[in-house]
Amino acid sequence: MECQNQTKRTMPSMQNLFTIQFWGVRGSIACPGPETVRYGGNTPCVEMRVGGKRLIFDGGTGLRVLGQSLLSQMPIEADMFFTHSHWDHIQGFPFFVPAFVQGNCFNIYGAIAPNGATIEQRLTDQMLHPNFPVPIRAMQADLHFHDLEIRDKVEIGDIRIENLPLFHPGESVGYRITWNGCCAAYITDTEHFENTLDENVLELARNADVMIYDATYTNDEYYSPVSSKVGWGHSTWQEAVKVAQAANVKKLVIFHHDPLHNDDFLDHVWEQATKVFPGTIMAREGLSIDLLEPHELKKNCVASQEEIVKV
Ligand SMILES: [Zn+2]
Ligand SMILES: [Zn+2]
Repeated sequence: MECQNQTKRTMPSMQNLFTIQFWGVRGSIACPGPETVRYGGNTPCVEMRVGGKRLIFDGGTGLRVLGQSLLSQMPIEADMFFTHSHWDHIQGFPFFVPAFVQGNCFNIYGAIAPNGATIEQRLTDQMLHPNFPVPIRAMQADLHFHDLEIRDKVEIGDIRIENLPLFHPGESVGYRITWNGCCAAYITDTEHFENTLDENVLELARNADVMIYDATYTNDEYYSPVSSKVGWGHSTWQEAVKVAQAANVKKLVIFHHDPLHNDDFLDHVWEQATKVFPGTIMAREGLSIDLLEPHELKKNCVASQEEIVKV
């Protein structure tokens, strides 16, 4: 089953846009407070408005905030893609108000967990007593669950969403989203390899306009002799730069910030990263990136019209 009334619920004013908006950028656990005001304390949730469709990646606590912003735009239809179901990627789901409202519709995608649990089971289980008072069946929107196979290609209109497995305890998948000659890669909860770049990561990121990458740590923290982070399932900004260079990425977005990294620390990470990779952006709540600049938009639209004419 899929959401119906696709055309009714597309966003006509955004039909020619590819915009990425960040609602939660923090890894592991939400960390609101005076030290994280500028970058934000909510856990992963990234919205992509692509060709009039709304895609949502992960349902961390940032999803609650996105949900509030959508209340004025109902009825809502969106395709939600989960990387995995560690708490920081699903805890916003029970607080996603549009899912409780009849008339809204969500297609929900995720790979099967190592223990065999589907994304439907995992989102259902986190809302069971005694851990949560309201069961998932209280959600009145249409929820359609889809189990992803690794390397599945999901086509939503002319948007393509591909996935590959990442190196992470409990298994995570990364996504590559392409539309109208533009490409974004969402690669979070992944650890790099010691002496070689991860082929899956490179494949997801190849020539991407924007690569969002798990740079939880600095190299100093990762290799610290007293509290090494080797084997914790996350990467560093230095590795992010290596991937961005090797994969010919245009813009690198440093993402999944460690809860211990305050605003000043993250400013410092940006200063260092941007020296070696000038197209570096630090993810922060509220940040929005347009993949199509107005002049490119015109060019691409013309190009795609010409292609249609040729066909
Ligand atoms: Zn995470
Ligand atoms: Zn994780």
